[in-house]
Amino acid sequence: NRSIHLASRPHGAPKAENFRLETAPRPSPQAGQVLLRTVYLSLDPYMRGRMSDAPSYAPPMQVGDVMVGGTVSRVAESRHPDFTVGDWVLGASGWQDYALSDGKGLVKLDPNMPHPSHALGVLGMPGFTAYMGLLDIGQPKSGETLVVAAATGPVGATVGQIGKLKGCRVIGVAGGEEKCRHAVEVLGFDACIDHHHEDLAEQLAQACPQGIDVYFENVGGRVFDAVLPLLNTGARVPVCGVVAQYNSTALPEGPDRLPLLLNTLLRKRMRMQGFIIWADYGDRYDEFYRDMSAWYAEGRIKYREHRVEGLEQAPDAFIGLLEGRNFGKLVVQVGET
Ligand code: NDP
Repeated sequence: NRSIHLASRPHGAPKAENFRLETAPRPSPQAGQVLLRTVYLSLDPYMRGRMSDAPSYAPPMQVGDVMVGGTVSRVAESRHPDFTVGDWVLGASGWQDYALSDGKGLVKLDPNMPHPSHALGVLGMPGFTAYMGLLDIGQPKSGETLVVAAATGPVGATVGQIGKLKGCRVIGVAGGEEKCRHAVEVLGFDACIDHHHEDLAEQLAQACPQGIDVYFENVGGRVFDAVLPLLNTGARVPVCGVVAQYNSTALPEGPDRLPLLLNTLLRKRMRMQGFIIWADYGDRYDEFYRDMSAWYAEGRIKYREHRVEGLEQAPDAFIGLLEGRNFGKLVVQVGET
């Protein structure tokens, strides 16, 4: 059983030396347990927070722990009455080939699901995050302008497409021309702006002649600086993530923007609200799944996966996720289907 552990806490961007690959005999299930064989491992930005011991909404990993992560696995051995060898399950085995489970928290997947890995993306946690954050906090209305960054990732792509279903004008922000083209041509956004451009703020202003009614915050940093002056009276800002800041070790350079933010909040009577998907909306998963599985089956929501082969590639792929090297939902294929 190969497993990847937190070898040390990163300072700034994670590096290869913060991870350690270990090999141990495959564990055997006791009565009431199953042995899971990981097929797909999800890599997500929140893992950067767990590697750090700064206070957060979830306790940090300890140095030496197996890296945490959502997984889609096959039941390899079962001594649990509810599971049979070969079942597909959604769980949280982390970065390893095999894991034992007592069945708590495991979700059996439909054996006829054409792409089980999609349970880690559009039909799972990131899709759920997009759905609740946009609809419950963003409250988009037909004709309004919605802006979302990390526009080709699983959260951003889903946010923008739901925005289109609700009749919004949707402007994406993404890293690079190819991603921007995908946002417009495949996902159906009205425009998409490359945040690497020096004149990001001017380009965004041009793309949003009516201002911004909903800004779905995924990244923070320069993108938020460009968005802030464009927000309309009564704008809603679901604060989902600030991935541009996850590797920061100091406050950003330049003048203090806090007074500007407070002033804008007041004058524009805006609403900014942070949320943590499972903690705030765990009891509404069925509502999400009903809508999203229908939209997805009808082809109204498109989904792109970025697949990496082999558990040993996980650290490098994860480092790349925080730099925008992924193009779509980042998933590691750990084992055979
Ligand atoms: P993505 O697959 O979109 O990956 C992150 C992306 O962020 C990168 O691909 C990159 O895209 C973009 N990015 C990285 N650095 C910067 C930067 N400096 N400026 C602008 N963009 C940057 O991730 P997810 O869709 O999984 O997650 C999106 C956000 O949602 C994250 O902030 C994540 O933490 C948050 N999240 C929050 C949850 C909650 O419960 N609140 C649950 C799930 C996710 P590009 O190349 O296009 O810039």
